[in-house]
Amino acid sequence: MIYADFNATYPCSESHLDMVSRVMKKTQGNPSSIHQHGREARLVLEESREQVARLIGAQRHQLFFTSGATEANNLALQGVVGRKRGNGPVHVVLSSGEHPSLLQPAKWLESVGLIDLSLIRLKPDGKVCPEHLIETIRKDTAFVGLILANNETGIINPLDRLIAQIRSLAPDCHIHSDGVQAYGKTETSWIGSPQGPDSFSASAHKIGGFKGIGFLYLNNHANLQAMMIGGGQEQRVRSGTENMPGVISFGLRAREILACQDWLAPARLAQKELTEGLKSLKGAVIHGDYSDDSSHTHNTVNFHVNGLSGETMMLHFDMAEICVSSGSACSSGQGSPSPVLMAMGYDEDIATNSVRVSFGHSSSPEDAKKILSVLRQLS
Ligand code: PMP
Repeated sequence: MIYADFNATYPCSESHLDMVSRVMKKTQGNPSSIHQHGREARLVLEESREQVARLIGAQRHQLFFTSGATEANNLALQGVVGRKRGNGPVHVVLSSGEHPSLLQPAKWLESVGLIDLSLIRLKPDGKVCPEHLIETIRKDTAFVGLILANNETGIINPLDRLIAQIRSLAPDCHIHSDGVQAYGKTETSWIGSPQGPDSFSASAHKIGGFKGIGFLYLNNHANLQAMMIGGGQEQRVRSGTENMPGVISFGLRAREILACQDWLAPARLAQKELTEGLKSLKGAVIHGDYSDDSSHTHNTVNFHVNGLSGETMMLHFDMAEICVSSGSACSSGQGSPSPVLMAMGYDEDIATNSVRVSFGHSSSPEDAKKILSVLRQLS
């Protein structure tokens, strides 16, 4: 079987499962307990937090563990809106390329009259349109959400430049970035610097860690209302006993990636093989601009083939035991057009009949060749 759906989830290696299990056997306490069992768990919790924070150049106290990036994105948006609520709806700006875990809560907040929501167009290259963003920002804009690397296309927004522009127009605005598909896969050590966003989210299961664990990074100026209120864990930002197996898994993966920053080199080779092959396949169109290396992640290819339905391609990939995704994993199975591709200007037909291939460290150019051979047989 060829697994090429690493953006949906990045399976854990057996050695990782063994390592987490080994640490867990020695760490059964509740990190909030003050006795020895608790203190041991606290030590492991804080060591893991340190490793996870290092990948984004942040300090330990700025990182808050959550149940995943869905919760982290909800917390960033709802937490800021909760704090800035006053007379009338607060102004929120999101790119049209945001993940549903930010877009959907924003639409709900808009429907109940708490926010005034502006969505920013994407350019055909997959990046947010900077002119539209700048003309939309108001002095009183409370929250801007800009995904760093898109989960469907792998296209990377020029976040550093956009942050500088937004701050010059709205200095009090909270800038959040969904970093799920960029964390551990691209250079993110600047996120914790003054040039970085006010908040940033990521998830362990996209880098070979456990599902059900993520984090929200907050810089020292960020001020938000907690959503999960209770025992006051995670500095009162997110109450609830920490998911220790998840935390340990996240910490170990972050440490491994820090020790081997080029861990995704095989994915890059597979991606190159696939993009080159698609260029010579009749009717194939790759979505987004891949001409500049810093504009995309090095594992994702999103494309359609004129005259081939997404369903036909998915069926034949499945028969050939190749796992890929049609659009984003979150909306796959629904057969609905990808909102991201629509925002880039593709029509409904193309946005419904596209395929996303995403490689990992265990991928090889051979995988790309097999994907291409299925497509050649069909076209
Ligand atoms: N943001 C992006 C860009 C994602 O790809 C995902 C996962 N599909 C999420 C947020 C949600 O992450 P989680 O699965 O940890 O809730």
